[in-house]
Amino acid sequence: MSGCASGSNVEHQRQRDSDQGSLPSDCVFCQIIRGEGPALKLYEDDMCLCILDVNPLSHGHSLIIPKAHFSSLNTTPPSVSNW
Ligand SMILES: [Zn+2]
Repeated sequence: MSGCASGSNVEHQRQRDSDQGSLPSDCVFCQIIRGEGPALKLYEDDMCLCILDVNPLSHGHSLIIPKAHFSSLNTTPPSVSNW
C-alpha cells in the first residue's frame, strides 16, 4: 500500500472543538471528501484525502484526512490512524 504515509493525520478534529456528537453530514472534512466543500486536493486514494490547509501555519501546510468520519483521534481505529 502506498500513499499518505507522512505527516500526522486525523487533523479532522482539531479545528472543530465543538463538534462532539456532530453527524458526518455536518463535518466540513466529510463535505470536502464528498466534493461538497472547497479544497485544493494534493492526493487522494481509497483511504485518505490530502488537501492544503485553509489557514496554513507554514508554506505547504497540508492535511491528511481519513475518508471515514471519526469523532476524535481516540475513536479512530489504529488501522486508520497508524498507517
Ligand atoms: Zn468528518
